[in-house]
Formats: sequence, C-alpha cells, structure tokens
Amino acid sequence: MVEVRTDAGQAGTPELTPNPAFPTARLVERRDMTEDLMVIKLEVSEKFDFKPGQYCTLGLGKIERAYSIVSAPYEKYLEIFVELVPDGELTPKMWDLKTGGLMSVRPRAKGIFTKDKKMHHHFMLSTVTGLAPSMSMVRQYLHDGGHEGSEEKQVFYIMYGASYIDELTYDVELQELAEKHPDVVKFVPTISRPTESRNDGWTGATGRVNTIAEEYLEKFSLPKDDTKVYACGHPGMIEDMKEKLSPEGWNFIEERFWKP
Ligand SMILES: Cc1cc2nc3c(=O)[nH]c(=O)nc-3n(C[C@H](O)[C@H](O)[C@H](O)COP(=O)(O)OP(=O)(O)OC[C@H]3O[C@@H](n4cnc5c(N)ncnc54)[C@H](O)[C@@H]3O)c2cc1C
Repeated sequence: MVEVRTDAGQAGTPELTPNPAFPTARLVERRDMTEDLMVIKLEVSEKFDFKPGQYCTLGLGKIERAYSIVSAPYEKYLEIFVELVPDGELTPKMWDLKTGGLMSVRPRAKGIFTKDKKMHHHFMLSTVTGLAPSMSMVRQYLHDGGHEGSEEKQVFYIMYGASYIDELTYDVELQELAEKHPDVVKFVPTISRPTESRNDGWTGATGRVNTIAEEYLEKFSLPKDDTKVYACGHPGMIEDMKEKLSPEGWNFIEERFWKP
C-alpha cells in the first residue's frame, strides 16, 4: 500500500538541522512503498550535476550517508529510494521527515558505477533499492533519444529482485518502458519468496537474482565482448555474481550499499 504524504514541516529537533556548509535538499514528495521502503524527491538549493549511476551524499546534522540517484540528470528533482535500517543512525531520522523538511547534500555527486558507453548490452542485476543507478541510466538514455539511431542502439536487460512484490517499487514504470521500447528495455522482475501469502498472485520469475542471472544471460544470447554486467544492492547477491561471472570473462562492475 503506497502512502503519499503531503503534510508540511520538519520534525524539529536540533540534530535534524542540515549542515549549513552544504546546499540544502528540500523534501518535495514522499511515497511510502512499504513500512521500510520510501521514495523521496528532493529539491536541491543549488545546481546539482551528476552522471546517471552516480550517488549523492545526504545528511542530517553531522550524519551523512551515500544514496544512489534514481532520477536522471534531466529531471527537476533528485529522486532517492531508501530502505529503513531500524538500528541505523540516519535512516530512522529520515523517516521522520515530512514534505518541506530539509537535509543537506554535498555539492558533488560521486561514483564510477556509470554506463559503459563502449558497450551495447547492459546487463543490470539489482535488488530492491539497488535498482536506483539502472533507473537513472535508462531514463536518461531514453530521454536523450539514443534508441532512435539504429546503428548505435543500446539494450538494457534489467533483472530486479526482491523478497516481496510490494518491494518491486519501479516495476510498473519498467514494465511500461519494456512494452513501449521492447528493443531497448528487457525487464525481468523476480521474487525470492513465492510461496508466502504476501506474494499471492505472482506469475513472474522466482528465485534470487543471483540464482537466475546466468539462465537469462544465455536466454538473451549476450555477447561477452559487447556486454557490461552491473551489480548493485545486496552484498550477498554481488559477491555471488562476481564469483560466478568474473572468472568466465564477463566485464563486471559493482556497487555495494553496505558491508554484511
Ligand atoms: C555508493 C552507495 C550508494 C548507496 N545508495 C543507497 C540507496 O540508494 N538507498 C539506500 O537505502 N541505501 C543506499 N546506500 C546505503 C546508505 O548509504 C546507508 O548505509 C543506509 O541508508 C543505512 O544508513 P543508516 O545511517 O541508517 O545505518 P548505519 O548506521 O550506517 O548502519 C547500521 C548497520 O546497518 C548496515 N546496513 C546499512 N544499510 C543496510 C541495509 N540496506 N540492509 C541491511 N543492513 C544495512 C550497516 O552496514 C551497519 O552495520 C548506499 C551506500 C553506498 C556506499
């Protein structure tokens, strides 16, 4: 059940005051996807440049953390997909933020988990919030009209895993893109706990991303010398994929969100 919050104001305790040394990021929209997943849109007080796939550094008071950017550079707001870590330092405080609330954002985006322009095939493995960099890359590519030139067309194969259907936050958008641009976007959402009642009605792929990825690499007939594999999100998924694919000669890049 998605809850869109529109109430104004900032949970006003001193430790939530954004660091004045940095630009501010004002929360303009918040969608609660589940109890521990939310999508927020932020308006940055200064021009904020980034490449699709990069991350920004958000903060409240002295606490700062990295967040991959879902939105593409052409979009007006920074879109971030956040998972609540109940014992974490920052995310429980972010959960108190309401529309109009302020965070700080470091002025420069960072990261090298960006699209390899030399490759035509982009095989993207992600779990839950780890979808963010892929979303940004696909949105920007389609916005730029890169798919309209037939010679240099690039294809995005997006494997998107979660335990539960309601955690697949961008499934509707990706399904629509895959239907509208079938030669550019191939979308494979997968559920790892298909027998649980929360997943009733699921008819798509089942199993963790890392257990089905190789099957899809084969199904899509991807050429090793023209394919980049991107793995982002759960460290276990990344580790497993790296162990399986790197020795096989796949060109592999990763972005880990936390250390187990
Ligand atoms: C490059 C990069 C990009 C990132 N992008 C995103 C993003 O788009 N969305 C997002 O939600 N997070 C993202 N993260 C993780 C984010 O930076 C924070 O680590 C996370 O939000 C937890 O912060 P916290 O202060 O609440 O918890 P912390 O106090 O930092 O962590 C408490 C403990 O929880 C562990 N932990 C952190 N995150 C998780 C998790 N998701 N699941 C289980 N354990 C965890 C930590 O390793 C630590 O042991 C990214 C991290 C990196 C390095």
